[in-house]
Amino acid sequence: MDQILKSARLEKAELDEGELALINAQTLRPLSAEEVFTFRLAACDNQIDRDFERFTEATLEELAEQFVGRPVLRDHKWSADAQTARVYAGSVEPGEGEGVRRLVLRCYMVRSDQAASTIAAIEGGILRECSVGLSVRRVVCSICGANQRETLCQHFPGREYDGQMCHMDLDGVEDTYEVSMVAVPAQREAGTIKSKRYGGQEPPPNSDPPGEEPGKNEAWRDEALLELEKSRF
Ligand SMILES: [Zn+2]
Repeated sequence: MDQILKSARLEKAELDEGELALINAQTLRPLSAEEVFTFRLAACDNQIDRDFERFTEATLEELAEQFVGRPVLRDHKWSADAQTARVYAGSVEPGEGEGVRRLVLRCYMVRSDQAASTIAAIEGGILRECSVGLSVRRVVCSICGANQRETLCQHFPGREYDGQMCHMDLDGVEDTYEVSMVAVPAQREAGTIKSKRYGGQEPPPNSDPPGEEPGKNEAWRDEALLELEKSRF
């Protein structure tokens, strides 16, 4: 599975009747405002990131629809316990800076004894890092237009060719998987851990995801510290 994991940020959310109706479209029985805890994830945007990749705006719009209903996990675990929240709506919104468009996913969880520790961890800033898993149909070189999933070109993202910086456009949603919240290790180096490859290029050491066949995936992982704001209702 060519999964991409993008870093995301948690933000506070407003809960009105319209939001509650969207949440209740995902539930088996109607929930009241008092029963739910909501938060927003600033998942990804249309700017060239530190991997010299960017999502096209059309792709962000697709993601906004396709992430609805997807689970929000803890620590990348798919157990019932770990599936703590769900995405109930998505939208593309202006971000900071001119021309910045970002995908915002709105998530809810049901307040329960099981969820209490996760809610406390979010509110307390323990769970403040998050990644968004998805795969795209095309990875397009900005220099020559080659789709790296079909034809590897000779251009390296981040290098200049005749004064033009090469980056890759992530275009077209193949699938969306999950959002995962993880605790930030105490001694963690600030910044990101990431790995990726397009098959023909050598990745940095230790960057292959375990169990993946080398050279066969364009998956990469990008985790960043999150700013966290809490929301209460
Ligand atoms: Zn190229």
